[in-house]
Amino acid sequence: MQDKLTIALSKGRILDETLPLLAAAGIEPGEDPEASRKLVLPTNDASVRLVIVRATDVPTYVEHGGADMGVAGKDVLLEYGGQGLYEPLDLGIARCRLMVAGEPGSETLRRPRVATKFVNIARRHFAGQGRQADLIKLYGSMELAPLVGLADLIVDLVDTGNTLRANGLEPLESIADISSRLVVNKASMKVKHRSINPFIGKLREAVRATAA
Ligand code: AMP
Repeated sequence: MQDKLTIALSKGRILDETLPLLAAAGIEPGEDPEASRKLVLPTNDASVRLVIVRATDVPTYVEHGGADMGVAGKDVLLEYGGQGLYEPLDLGIARCRLMVAGEPGSETLRRPRVATKFVNIARRHFAGQGRQADLIKLYGSMELAPLVGLADLIVDLVDTGNTLRANGLEPLESIADISSRLVVNKASMKVKHRSINPFIGKLREAVRATAA
């Protein structure tokens, strides 16, 4: 019997860039996930369904078995932390960099106030440098914080750098190169390996073909 597989995805860039890879692996949703309000989407393969969750919730769903697999940005995975997930495949999509940024000259501040939604990553980064930093948790528009005096620095995702430049900020330090990863629940990997291993193989081929 074929194992039932549930794959957690989040709307937006990751979904847009994951769907062609899934299609190359033979999985296509029955309706457009971006347009649909449904949170559970059947696919052309009766044993595979997609669930649509918030990007930051993907690791939680997968670690606790709400989904067998999922696609999450490395930024989300680094912030989530822990050893509860397998990460067998770099999909090479939604690439960007996680960076410290600020107004020119602010890199030398002794004890900077750092605004970010990635507080765990930022804490580890500054602690790793032996620098004291006061972290301020934000949920969006980090670039605003230095402009209104809320923070000296931000830790945020940077792609083209246009958002930083438009707000008079510049990239100061790179923390990590980011791309989206396939993550797999540890129990599912054992129990459903007959279905999951070939799926990972097909996805790996699709990633290779895209990169070539
Ligand atoms: P950019 O202006 O091209 O440097 O893009 C920066 C803005 O887009 C920031 O607000 C980031 O949070 C967001 N961003 C850039 N790349 C990604 C990505 N791969 N995933 C999610 N958000 C991103």
